[in-house]
Amino acid sequence: MSETPEELALAPAVSAGASRSPSSDRAAEQNGGRRIQVLSAEVAQQIAAGEVVTRPADAVKELIENSIDACLTLPDSGLTDGQAGGVGLPPRVDVEIRGGGLGLIRVIDTGRGIPADQLALAFERHATSKIRSTADLFAIHSLGFRGEALASIASVSRIVAYSRTLGADLGELLELDAGKAGERGQRAGPLGTSLTIRNLFQNVPARLRFLRTSTGEAGQVVHLISQYALAYPEIRFTLLNEGRLVFQSPGSGKVEDVLVKAHGASLAGRFLPFDSVAGHVRVWGFVAEPGMHRGTRTGVSIFVNRRLIQSRPLFYAIEEAYQPELPTGRHPIAALFLEIPASEIDVNVHPTKAEIRFVDERAIYSAVRRAVRETILRSAPLPTVGTALAAVGGPAWSADPMTDVSEPPTAAAPVGLGRDVWADDRPPSSGSSWPPATGEEAAGDSSAAPAESAGSGESRPVDPLAPAAIRAAGLPILHPLGQVRRTYIVAEGPDGVYFVDQHTAHERIRYEEVRTQKAASGVASQGLLSPIVVELTPRQWELLGEGAPKLRELGFDIEPFGERSCLLRAVPAMLRSDDPARELGEMIDALAQEEPAAGIDPAAALLACHSAVRAGDALTPVEIRELLGRLEGLDVWRYCPHGRPIVIRLDAAQLARDFKRI
Ligand code: ADP
Ligand code: MG
Repeated sequence: MSETPEELALAPAVSAGASRSPSSDRAAEQNGGRRIQVLSAEVAQQIAAGEVVTRPADAVKELIENSIDACLTLPDSGLTDGQAGGVGLPPRVDVEIRGGGLGLIRVIDTGRGIPADQLALAFERHATSKIRSTADLFAIHSLGFRGEALASIASVSRIVAYSRTLGADLGELLELDAGKAGERGQRAGPLGTSLTIRNLFQNVPARLRFLRTSTGEAGQVVHLISQYALAYPEIRFTLLNEGRLVFQSPGSGKVEDVLVKAHGASLAGRFLPFDSVAGHVRVWGFVAEPGMHRGTRTGVSIFVNRRLIQSRPLFYAIEEAYQPELPTGRHPIAALFLEIPASEIDVNVHPTKAEIRFVDERAIYSAVRRAVRETILRSAPLPTVGTALAAVGGPAWSADPMTDVSEPPTAAAPVGLGRDVWADDRPPSSGSSWPPATGEEAAGDSSAAPAESAGSGESRPVDPLAPAAIRAAGLPILHPLGQVRRTYIVAEGPDGVYFVDQHTAHERIRYEEVRTQKAASGVASQGLLSPIVVELTPRQWELLGEGAPKLRELGFDIEPFGERSCLLRAVPAMLRSDDPARELGEMIDALAQEEPAAGIDPAAALLACHSAVRAGDALTPVEIRELLGRLEGLDVWRYCPHGRPIVIRLDAAQLARDFKRI
């Protein structure tokens, strides 16, 4: 390539000018004064830039993606690891913004650098080192590949670029103004690349008018950087806003470390890891314990092959997995990583690469929901008295005497505003403070008492005192004390008094039994003394066509008997009912239901429910001990198949405090 960007920019404009003649002007007048002409490269560039870069955060995104690509492809020879960062140190990406990015964006990395002779080329459109052929488009391993970002940003700003590669004594400096190359030359400087963008959108006043306040923009940038830091924990990211350090990730390689930086120290140790494989897809990541949630959707980050994406279906998959522990209007905090073979996705659907197409979206949706659900069921801490209400959708955070208030309110995490995920239902931002408030904090009174503000932003921990033992997988060994209101079993356990809902507990035990028996030889059944004829509704009759084998698996012995009736000879042995005909009808209805929660079999859940002891049933001490013993043996014992809690703990330390013993 011999043309400089100036020549490129000038060429079409000159030829357009030369083709003007008095006669063509006359023709133009006849055409309502509008001639058709090819746009100058400059104008075309600005239009194209609009697709990639519509706001400062977009420019930052493109620049840090380039830096990440450069840090992850460091040459093997010579310095390794952080290169300019130093041997043994993590690679670094340092970002600085002023005026919400409109005044200044500076991104400095310790990556591989751009060779001096290619620096100008990097700012040309469709210039990329990352792919060569269309075949490469289907196996993209870098974040960038379109070769558009630098050209787009350059066309709407003033840039100073500096880069030095390993082995070069001096680096190369290049200045560009609205895409036109200016001063250039060799300079001494560190290894890696530094790009300084000033006057963003100065030559596109219309775009400037549509931008948020600079605080809002800065909020976007903080969110963005924290997201990339999650995806690339091995890189150390730093963000300065107006000269103040607002975010820094440790570069330790651990996602958990970054999660704490991104969401606040109050969440340290409160993330539950998950990792599972479904078909070609690995689904892994971290979810915050169900008691930890926030009022906006920005707490959920989704990455596909380490690329940050927005996906409404996957967001809902996570949210659904949290039901019913999530109070209404609250959203989970999670980082979800999907690893999918490049052939199973298409990333090249959108200029900003924020959306992605999955070959089999449904399968991925279920895999995510299942992985998150199982994690929550297995390892969430027990609800304590008073907080379980919030967990089943009651008032989210009323003044709660059971919650320890000695812990200071969460230091506001710098991740206030996220990318506008779904602008339609996002609360407006006030944009007057830094760090920017989350939606409902902005709407509320900023002078709220610390405890209240802690409640409205990051949620309070459900149980700050829960000993680690209780958060381990199984139900602790409990010593039964008795039954209250013929509904709850009261027992003593580690560090407190435990209340067990006898119905939900037994329901879970039965449900697991049904599943085990079904997987083996079918659920044990019990013959009726004499068979009964059950009349079905037309809809039930319809469902029975396909459902009969499932009912047989559940222990019903049925055969068709004339028009819309069937003969019932045996029912599941565990069923506690004196009306087998009604049970059968309800069971058929349940067959038509969608799964009520991830992986829950509706008919099995119904059978479990109808086989379990009820509230109001008096239990003998032997029965109580038997029930607790069975519950202790289960992996999944926190919630019944319908999602209601089984065990609630009254904390011993809390009792001691309330009795003024400590
Ligand atoms: P893309 O990232 O899609 O390839 P860009 O316009 O963002 O396109 O960048 C063009 C090229 O410039 C990249 O392919 C890469 O070779 C080079 N480049 C850009 N930024 C950096 C950087 N921070 N470090 C090293 N090389 C870079
Ligand atoms: Mg790029």
